Amino acid sequence: MRLVVVGSGIVGSACAYVASSLGAQVTLIDAGEPGQATAAGAGIICPWTAGIDDPAGYAFACAAARAYPALVAELAGLGAADVSYRLVGALVVTGREDQLEQARAWLDARHAENPEMGDVRVLTGAAAQRLFPPLRPGLPAVHIPGAARVDGRKFRDALIRAARRKGATVRAGHAVLECRGGRAAGVRAGDDLIQADAVVAAAGAWTPAFVEPAGAVVRVTPQRGQIVHLSLGSAGTGHWPVILPADSGHYLLAFDDSRVVAGATREPGTGFDYRVTAAGLSEVLAQALAVAPGLASATYLETRVGFRPAGPDSRPLLGPVAGVAGLIVATGLGAEGLTMGPYAGGIAARAALGLEPDIDLTPFDPLR
Ligand SMILES: Cc1cc2nc3c(=O)[nH]c(=O)nc-3n(C[C@H](O)[C@H](O)[C@H](O)COP(=O)(O)OP(=O)(O)OC[C@H]3O[C@@H](n4cnc5c(N)ncnc54)[C@H](O)[C@@H]3O)c2cc1C
Repeated sequence: MRLVVVGSGIVGSACAYVASSLGAQVTLIDAGEPGQATAAGAGIICPWTAGIDDPAGYAFACAAARAYPALVAELAGLGAADVSYRLVGALVVTGREDQLEQARAWLDARHAENPEMGDVRVLTGAAAQRLFPPLRPGLPAVHIPGAARVDGRKFRDALIRAARRKGATVRAGHAVLECRGGRAAGVRAGDDLIQADAVVAAAGAWTPAFVEPAGAVVRVTPQRGQIVHLSLGSAGTGHWPVILPADSGHYLLAFDDSRVVAGATREPGTGFDYRVTAAGLSEVLAQALAVAPGLASATYLETRVGFRPAGPDSRPLLGPVAGVAGLIVATGLGAEGLTMGPYAGGIAARAALGLEPDIDLTPFDPLR
């Protein structure tokens, strides 16, 4: 079974790893487009607060978060010692008593179905600040111990290395879908034709253009996100929780190298305009400093820009394309793609190999 996977973001990398583990002869190809979402993504894994209003999408995100630890262990078994995934917990912070109570009740109601979120409880402002020192004093929080974070770049690279170890070929290039007799026959990359029995389109926000030669219309658009990286010198930030202000879509999280990440803008309608803008930078920094004034003296490191693949609703676009044999789409993960990506990639791999899917793919029809 020859499989071409187009796009080596988190979805395509996971797909290539799972498919090569299942014995497929995999070629993973990436065009190196500026604005890969995986390379810019914050890396919060906390689907229970993500406000996904669609039941199938919510169940998918929860299953994906649940599947992470086993995959991390599997990658460790293949030599990937540090893939950056860590259960650091999350704090939903708010100065308003009613919002605090609302957040706690919301999480309590979902706990029975998702016990992996851990025992949720309310913390005083002082207790919250002990966990995340730059936080504004006197800001109480709801603590979710089961939330995690991951560095998308490290996790993607670990998946690609694991795929290579399983025999996958990894190459750079812009792939153009090759269709013959109503089926996906492979891709063209420069002068090469890479023939395949199946093609997985995991090209993120670029997927609509990639599947166009098949006459398929995939309703995904780029949603720009600008996200700021700060350094706190030598502070030990590796176990700091994710900060989720209850009254905004912005957030903070931390990594091992004294790095705090403040995100992010959500900008539909920008197309693939890969720029840091004055308004974007100002919005992200203002929101970050409002909730964590202790970051005011941090060193500014960089702003990353990525294009979230935003679908028509909050469900992934995932599965075989009706009417085009051998073409599988795996995208539309929007703002939750680092959470759902590895799981979605695995499902796409099994679909490409003609194996029974783990879940009913009907709600995820990529042409809806
Ligand atoms: C600022 C920001 C913050 C985020 N924070 C979070 C978060 O905290 N938690 C979370 O769960 N998710 C988060 N996300 C969302 C997540 O990053 C994305 O949903 C996810 O990374 C999408 O992965 P992907 O593999 O589908 O696409 P991408 O990572 O965009 O990869 C697509 C790849 O396809 C390649 N490609 C395109 N066309 C072609 C072609 N014709 N031939 C070959 N290659 C091609 C591109 O070069 C690219 O590398 C965030 C995103 C952004 C931008």
